Amino acid sequence: MDDFDPAPPSAAKSARSRARAAVEASLSPDAAAAPRRIVRRKTRVRIGNTRVGKGVFAQKWYRAHDIVGEIKGAVVTDEDYSSEYCMDLEDGSCLEPDAPFRYLNHSCEPNCRFTWHDLREQSGADVRRRIFLYALRAIRPEEELTIDYGWPASYAIPCRCGAASCRGWIVAEDELSAVADRKA
Ligand SMILES: [Zn+2]
Repeated sequence: MDDFDPAPPSAAKSARSRARAAVEASLSPDAAAAPRRIVRRKTRVRIGNTRVGKGVFAQKWYRAHDIVGEIKGAVVTDEDYSSEYCMDLEDGSCLEPDAPFRYLNHSCEPNCRFTWHDLREQSGADVRRRIFLYALRAIRPEEELTIDYGWPASYAIPCRCGAASCRGWIVAEDELSAVADRKA
């Protein structure tokens, strides 16, 4: 099993971010991806530039349902903590993700999503919730890895993902009508 090696907690404090809300909405347990497959796969990605800032790019082929990599970082239990990238966990704490996956961009037709598993540590009986990036379809080398941020309507901003089915806003599909109402 990979070592779980969190970075030191960041002292940054800011308003609750869009990213924080996003991940909460997209995080769900997934029985389809067995932990056995998670620990066997090597993460091969790089950080690169996109039209909207930094992004994360595959460096090899990933098959549909592969675990692309683990979202590592520092677990922060301070209820008042927030940052640009912090991901809410269901127990009230949040994960401040390390690079590269803190730079994942949104797409309305994403090729990845988050999943999590409660996995036993190699050294003992402790079970730790670990978060992974999961491939929704086959991904080729140099393709940008994307997730659907699924933001609530109150956070929506115009989307430039370029997907054929782009919703026009970075917003959850079922919140799109609420954005239209808000902008009318
Ligand atoms: Zn879009």
